[in-house]
Amino acid sequence: THAIRIEGLSKTYKGGKVALSDVSLAIPRGAFFGLLGPNGAGKSTLINIMAGLVRKTRGRVTIWDNDIDKDERNARLAIGIVPQELNLDPFFTPREMLEVQAGLYGVPAAERRTLAILDAVGLADKADSYARSLSGGMRRRLLVAKAMVHRPPILVLDEPTAGVDIALRQQLWAMVRRLNAQGTTVLLTTHYLEEAEELCDQIAIINHGRVVACEPTSTLLRRV
Ligand code: ADP
Ligand code: ADP
Repeated sequence: THAIRIEGLSKTYKGGKVALSDVSLAIPRGAFFGLLGPNGAGKSTLINIMAGLVRKTRGRVTIWDNDIDKDERNARLAIGIVPQELNLDPFFTPREMLEVQAGLYGVPAAERRTLAILDAVGLADKADSYARSLSGGMRRRLLVAKAMVHRPPILVLDEPTAGVDIALRQQLWAMVRRLNAQGTTVLLTTHYLEEAEELCDQIAIINHGRVVACEPTSTLLRRV
């Protein structure tokens, strides 16, 4: 059974731009799955459809056995999405942000393991510091913590290391790998082959809105 199933997914934006064209993908539970493609390929569009931020034109998306049209809420609860942008309110602390997020997702106060989640991303000692005092790397890790507040089985990261220096990239890689090893299914988009190769056990290549390859990383690398 799959974590995410995408069947015949298409998206045409107003004005006629075709961003996705008949995309089908099946992401196994527990996988570390990479969606690799150049800028403009359609990666963000695909993630935004799963996040409920963009309406699809055609096709079917099932997340942890919940159809995003028929069972939107459960589909949404099954994923945590880490956005590209580092927009965090500078005058809130990590602890406060996770509490607000937990409230939005209806996590009962007694089940909010705020400190444990901050600890999982290496931010326990920054729980009560204002976000404006956190480095770029810490902010990225805080966004991962926010995405995990409702304990989703799937974590989706949209270009997590775009514009990030090597040291920080290694740190983020190690963190996401650990989360995957602990059982979280990971879907990551990237335009770095090197990143997909390093992390993912399966890679789908997307270009001009179409999936042009989808294979285990080892067989894909033998061909490129
Ligand atoms: P990415 O960094 O994921 O490639 P872009 O920088 O191309 O994304 O776009 C950022 C945001 O701007 C996207 O989330 C998208 O909704 C919007 N956008 C991108 N291209 C267009 C466009 N041609 N017309 C309107 N909005 C766009
Ligand atoms: P990627 O994330 O792979 O860079 P996107 O999904 O952001 O790709 O974009 C796919 C295509 O759709 C691009 O040509 C982009 O300009 C276009 N696009 C993205 N968002 C919008 C939008 N809101 N309106 C119109 N075109 C868009």
